[in-house]
Amino acid sequence: MLIIINYHYIRKDFTSKFRSIFGVTPDLFEQQLISLKSQGDYISANDLIINSDKILNSKNKYFFVTFDDGLKEQYKFALPILEKLRIPAMFFANSRNFQDKKVSTVHKIHLLRSIISTKDFTKILNNQGQSFLLSKSDLIKAKSTYVYDNPEDASLKYLLNFKINFSLQEKLIKNIFNIYFDECEILNNLYMSENEIVDLSKRNFLGSHTHNHYPIGLLSQTEIEFELKNSKLFFEKITQSTISMVSYPYGTPDACNAEVANNAKSVGYKFGFTTTRGSNNKNNNKLLLNRYDCNDLSDVNIISEEL
Ligand SMILES: [Zn+2]
Repeated sequence: MLIIINYHYIRKDFTSKFRSIFGVTPDLFEQQLISLKSQGDYISANDLIINSDKILNSKNKYFFVTFDDGLKEQYKFALPILEKLRIPAMFFANSRNFQDKKVSTVHKIHLLRSIISTKDFTKILNNQGQSFLLSKSDLIKAKSTYVYDNPEDASLKYLLNFKINFSLQEKLIKNIFNIYFDECEILNNLYMSENEIVDLSKRNFLGSHTHNHYPIGLLSQTEIEFELKNSKLFFEKITQSTISMVSYPYGTPDACNAEVANNAKSVGYKFGFTTTRGSNNKNNNKLLLNRYDCNDLSDVNIISEEL
């Protein structure tokens, strides 16, 4: 059985005016790793590539640690702990941040939401020339997509990430972001450097999180292929290595379906990672593997049967 645990933000302090992100402190990260260590074995990307059938068929628990978004704090705080405990991992980065030198819109939204309340943010959005309303079924989807958020926050996140078309979303957010932040400064502080990316690839710890951080299942065939292929080729070029794993941004059924998985396979990925919660066995599609979020580990009820 393969149990994958995914991390985003790893920082010492999560205090901000309006809390908008969920993550763990380095201390909690270390505690989680130690407690899982007593319940199974950690595997590396190489182990997965070479022995995937054995791992997926086994009754033993194999843990794989992953990180999304290529954040500098993951390199700074999580990597030393992984090294200390001799645990391998996989870090998924977006090529847009390195190739285009642009902050991903999803992170612009996180940053804005850490300084502007949900109410004010919604007001600013609706003042940009058109108003945005969610249907009843969208509100239900919003709640199930963002289980750790209150209904208002979940609705705003769902509206921004899934309902407004991407070019309009980029434009609206860019305008608001530029009022409050310097893109170049954020780029350098938020994401890993190219040297850090190369270092991860030397450890065989580097994967793709696509180019732009869009929910690619909602894009056209040509765009899906671009998102998957461009990031693979870009990281392969700068690291002189083979990128064989992809984590789909958002990772929800909307964002990565069977068509996306087929595309990932055809551009050369061997494994694809979603955010659907669950463990994996021989019945799982290797291009659509389930992952737990690190925040699930504190909710014993969710995975007590498996851990
Ligand atoms: Zn992401």
